[in-house]
Parts: sequence; structure tokens; C-alpha cells
Amino acid sequence: MNTSFPTRIVSRRKFLGQLSAGMSALAAAPYIRAQGGAAPRKLGVALLGLGNYATKELGPALKLTKDCYLAGIVTGSPQKVPEWVKGYGFPEKNVWSYETMGRMAENKDIDIVYVVTPNGLHMRDAIAVAKAGKHVIIEKPMANTAAECDAILAACKAAKVKCGIGYRLHFDPYHKEMMRLAKEKDFGVLKKMTGDRGFHINNWRWRIDRKLAGGGPMMDIGIYINHAASMCAEGAAPAFVTAQHSPITKPDLFKDVEEGTRYKLEFANGAVCDAFTSYSHSADTFRAEGDKGWIHFKEKTFTYRGVKVDTSRGPLDFTPYVNQQALQMDDFARCVREGRESVVSGEVGRRDNVVIDAIYEAARTGKRVAVKV
Ligand code: NAD
Repeated sequence: MNTSFPTRIVSRRKFLGQLSAGMSALAAAPYIRAQGGAAPRKLGVALLGLGNYATKELGPALKLTKDCYLAGIVTGSPQKVPEWVKGYGFPEKNVWSYETMGRMAENKDIDIVYVVTPNGLHMRDAIAVAKAGKHVIIEKPMANTAAECDAILAACKAAKVKCGIGYRLHFDPYHKEMMRLAKEKDFGVLKKMTGDRGFHINNWRWRIDRKLAGGGPMMDIGIYINHAASMCAEGAAPAFVTAQHSPITKPDLFKDVEEGTRYKLEFANGAVCDAFTSYSHSADTFRAEGDKGWIHFKEKTFTYRGVKVDTSRGPLDFTPYVNQQALQMDDFARCVREGRESVVSGEVGRRDNVVIDAIYEAARTGKRVAVKV
């Protein structure tokens, strides 16, 4: 790992603190001790929904994971099955349809199901997974609304299964460095933020259908700006939001959802994030500034690879790039195994849906809306 930042010195007190935190984690992991040091069993993951993201990113990432592997699929497209079975080597008995997936309850190969369907189906699918007694990872956004998130969380609680969200950027070194800067205040409190995320939508499939998408670009990509701003606020949701949808320039496309939104997130610590997201411009940037310095994600901020980041101390370079999805799924598998909550838990997913609900209310009413997490 190369970085132009000076090497950080870990104080003896902090080192001992980290050591004792590590020891308690180990004490809380009888499963690992029982293995007498042998590598623990890899957990089996089933992908539910075999679209673009599952096929191009999650499947390949599951060939790189160390704590879990692809053990099955849930799909409504039987024609896709042979290629997945052949490509990943799991038995045909580990293939379910949306209608038969309840039977997964009896299958010991599957520990975790990863929901990768359109947003508007996440609640239906995640509840079905919980009812089958499996832990669940849900793609972002967690659901269409915070009320749907509550229903998912209740189902997971009732079934005593864990819920995590596909917030892969928590496992990306550049975003982790931003969270460290926010926590350790190298640049002071990160009070002035800007975010811009957009792409020209062409192959939209379900993304401009309100029922399936929950809304427009805010649900799909604006959420990344909101999430990054909360990373800079050490996990807090904004206290207030104001928002305005941009004028519709493509009425043939945007009949059901907004085309774009310009909005402001205000945090209790005085931090402000000015943001813009749309399906009619191209951008992928985020910047956070404190009294003593700044960090600027210049391009490919929220994508999987190729991010460029400058800071007031010089550019960041954490090459070689890591596979965010593999790290995210391995972390969730370890959470399941060790009985702890994910840093990107269902509660974090719900927080972001509460923020989006408030942004939509602000855009609808023209008012400054209080965010009640
Ligand atoms: P996609 O359209 O490529 O795939 C969706 C899948 O759901 C398809 O296999 C489709 O057959 C299935 N499906 C089941 N019922 C359906 C229905 N009624 N209508 C339409 N499709 C149905 O979408 P995608 O880009 O893979 O996105 C899926 C989810 O993953 C979304 O929630 C999206 O926000 C999320 N996603 C996350 C990232 C990330 O970086 N974390 C990236 C892309 C997508």
C-alpha cells in the first residue's frame, strides 16, 4: 500500500487498546476456538436475483472471498441456471425459484442469501429469506421507504437472523481513510461537503418505474452522496434537509420518477453537504473540508475501481485496488460466524432510507424537513 501521507504512529496506549479489543473479540468467538486454530468453515451464500450486479460483480467476487463462497442461487430465469451451476460448481439442488425458496430452510449449504433484485422487491425478498431462517444481505437502497425497512428488521429479529446492506465502500481503503480523517479530525471537523453523482440513463430496465425503484436517481445513486456525508459525520444522519427536483427535460422517460434533485443535508455538528444527483448528467465526485484541510474524490468516487483522490496533503494512493464486494461479503460472513453486527447493518440501511424519505418530503413541500431517525 502506497500513500503519500506520513505513516501514522500508533501510540502504546492505543496499541494496547486495540490488542484488548482483539482479545475480547476472540473470547466472543467460541466457534473459532473450538476449531483448535483450524480454518473455520466457509459460509454458503445464495445470490437472489441474477441481474447485472449479481452477474458481473458479486458472482466473480465470491470467487475471491475467504470466509464465504457461492453455494446456490434463487432466480426466476431457468435459462440462466446451467451457466451458473457450471461456472460456480454448486449442486442443482441449490437452485430455487422465488416460489420455491421457502424450502431453502431445510438446506444446510446456505447460510446467507444476498438480495440483488430491484429496490421495490427488497422487502418481499428479504422477508422471505428471514422466514427461511437465513441471514440476509440486501443491496442498496435497503428498500423503497423507511417503513419497508422496519418490516424487514422486524422479520429478521423474529427469525433471529442478521441483516446487512451492500455498502461496499466501507471496505474501500479511500473511503476508509475518509472515515478515519472524520474520526481523528486530522483536517478538523469535516464541515463543508459537496457531492455530485449522475449518469445518463439509457438501459433503464426498472430504474424509472416508481414501484420497482422507489424513486429516481436519489434511490439509486444520490444515496451514495448521503451515505458519504454520514461517513464524514461519524455515522450520524443529517438533522435537516432541503431539496428541489430539477426540471424534467426528458418527459418521455421521466413520467413516474424525478429526473434529478439538488439538495442540502445539514448535520447537528454544523456540517453541511450540498448535493446534486440526476439521470441526465455525468458526475461522480465528493469533497469534504475542515478548518485544517480537505479530501477530494475527483472521479469514480462511488464506483468499484479507478477512484482518484486528492487531499490538502497530497494525493492518496492505496494501489493495488481491492475487491470491495469480496471484502464486504467476507466481513458479513465473519459477523454471522462471530455473532456480531455488521458496520453496514440493516439499521444503517434504514437510516439512509429515513434520510431519503425526508429529502422527498422536502422536495414535495418546499420546506426544510427535520430528519427523524
Ligand atoms: P438488474 O435489472 O440488472 O437485475 C435485477 C434482477 O432482478 C434481474 O435478474 C431480474 O430478472 C430480477 N427480477 C426479479 N423480479 C423482477 C421484476 N419484477 N422486475 C425486474 N427484475 C426482476 O439490476 P441491477 O443493476 O443488478 O440492480 C439490482 C439491485 O442491486 C438494485 O437494488 C441496485 O440498486 C443494486 N445495485 C447495487 C450496486 C452497488 O454498487 N452496490 C450496483 C448496481 C446495482
